[in-house]
Amino acid sequence: MSASGPSAAPSPAPSAALEVLSRVFGYDSFRGDQAAIIEQVTGGGDAVVLMPTGGGKSLCYQIPSLLREGTGIVISPLIALMADQVAALEAVGIRAAYLNSTLAAHEAQAVEQQLLSGELDLLYMAPERLVLPRTLDLLGRARLALFAIDEAHCVSQWGHDFRPDYLGLTVLAEQFPTVPRIALTATATEATHRELTERLRLHEARHFVASFDRPNIRYRIEPKNNAREQLLRLITTEHEGESGIVYCLSRRSVEQVAQFLQERGIPALPYHAGLEASVRRDHQERFLRADGLIIVATIAFGMGIDKPDVRFVAHLDLPKSIEGYYQETGRAGRDGLPSTAWMAYGLGDVVSQRRFIDDSEGSEQHKRNARAHLDAMLALCETVTCRRAQLLRYFGEHSAPCENCDTCLSPPETWDATVAAQKLLSAIVRLDRERDQRFGAGQVIDVMLGRESERSRRSRHEELSVWGIGTELSPRQWRSAMRQLLARGIIEAQGEYGVLVLGPHAGPVLHGETTLELAVERTPVKATRPRSRRGPSRAAEGLEIAPRERFEALRAWRTSVARDKQIPPYMVFSDATLVAIAEHQPASIDALSQISGVGAKKLAEYGDAVLQVLEERA
Ligand code: ADP
Ligand code: ZN
Repeated sequence: MSASGPSAAPSPAPSAALEVLSRVFGYDSFRGDQAAIIEQVTGGGDAVVLMPTGGGKSLCYQIPSLLREGTGIVISPLIALMADQVAALEAVGIRAAYLNSTLAAHEAQAVEQQLLSGELDLLYMAPERLVLPRTLDLLGRARLALFAIDEAHCVSQWGHDFRPDYLGLTVLAEQFPTVPRIALTATATEATHRELTERLRLHEARHFVASFDRPNIRYRIEPKNNAREQLLRLITTEHEGESGIVYCLSRRSVEQVAQFLQERGIPALPYHAGLEASVRRDHQERFLRADGLIIVATIAFGMGIDKPDVRFVAHLDLPKSIEGYYQETGRAGRDGLPSTAWMAYGLGDVVSQRRFIDDSEGSEQHKRNARAHLDAMLALCETVTCRRAQLLRYFGEHSAPCENCDTCLSPPETWDATVAAQKLLSAIVRLDRERDQRFGAGQVIDVMLGRESERSRRSRHEELSVWGIGTELSPRQWRSAMRQLLARGIIEAQGEYGVLVLGPHAGPVLHGETTLELAVERTPVKATRPRSRRGPSRAAEGLEIAPRERFEALRAWRTSVARDKQIPPYMVFSDATLVAIAEHQPASIDALSQISGVGAKKLAEYGDAVLQVLEERA
């Protein structure tokens, strides 16, 4: 029923794709699998693309849409971002539009008309819109270049972002069998990959699975002492004046942390599902548009945010799964420049998450899954080897130690914790046996240290045989040991009060059949990045003083242009492009056109102004 061209159309020479890449986007070569993906789809074939955030997925459907006849239909769950996505395309001269519920009837009609008369290269819509009979009828009358299914993992019920509307997308295979389809996602374990291929009927597709490594992101996880102060230190010593996302689990802590930062003169805005939709939209927009604003958010924030210059992502609470964590941290450094993924986590996180799972409504199977997710997350936090290697292993990839995570950069020292662990385990056993009492972590530590309190006097804890058996360690060292024992399944925290019990791997330790090495808890280190000077932007980190000043001048110019045009600064030029301009100091329009990220339209629009900024700085 589709009117689109048959898939047998000869695929244009790869040089056509390169020509578009250079003229429209201003880039001179494809990255990774981009060229092969573009060739596959441009030639009429289907594709499944698994590529990490920042890998360059958009070009994989944008360029085929430009090369094939007709309009590329982009299906995305993110209505709030469509206007920006379209604006970014228009900024490079692509004819794009969106159809969603924010448009007035006459605006939607105008877009439909443009579609039918072939005036659009790309059209964005959400799945719930697409499956309406009216929309399907409209698409049936239009000439279609392709369907791009963005955030394709949303079709997976096992994934963490399931959207029921995505299930309706099977209609594409049925009603438009000759229109090529490309599904893209940045999160996919093997199970999700299989499920999305199945559900989207992509049996004939070629699969392109890129490495999920994000080498420019430095992963760091610290024990939580005073999370807000730790965050403040991260921002002021390493990311002053830069954009970042801070994730918290609850709405309340989002509000508190945002206020805490504001009170210390750091521009920050809250974002969570409890805020009015208009406030949320406003905060998101300001985050996208401003240079150096911090958004403090629940995980409700971020999917599809393609702000390229987010320099850090901080977690103040333990995420629920590695998939979620990796997706969230992946929002840092899309532009490929050095960025930080930082987390503070503590014993309390583990206890409260376990409780949350135990109390949740889900089935036993669901709870088992949730616990397995949490255990994997814990293991990542407590690993003494490369964090990146461990993350990638989770996604089925192997990697050598990365030299760009905290455990690689300063490998933790270890200590022989065999005896301490035995003491702790026997304390747990004895408390249970002697008194039929079960304690949470804080109480067990008090007993082992023999710390008197109102409660200890009341319950006559001094009479316990394990009272004061652990005074060789400080409370902080005990907490650190407990976290590590939890992560290894040697102890477990259960129920509402997080009472400690023996874990599945307690036996060999308790019976002295094995020795146990634990990491020494580090006092939080300050900036670990190698640098001798402090610059206002990490993007310009590698630059000498003169180019750095040019970069700052260009950045100031960009801010004023963005404000005038009411678009986010990165739509004028990305940080990466400004860095390249500052370094190469092009003296002519021709030389400027050679810089990566400077396409024909932007050259015409901004070329003279950029040269002038450089001249003033010469
Ligand atoms: P994803 O959607 O996979 O997260 P994007 O498509 O947003 O990634 O691309 C990330 C960044 O990389 C963007 O700023 C994009 O313009 C840039 N980019 C993509 N492909 C190339 C390329 N071949 N050369 C240079 N920059 C590229
Ligand atoms: Zn590493």
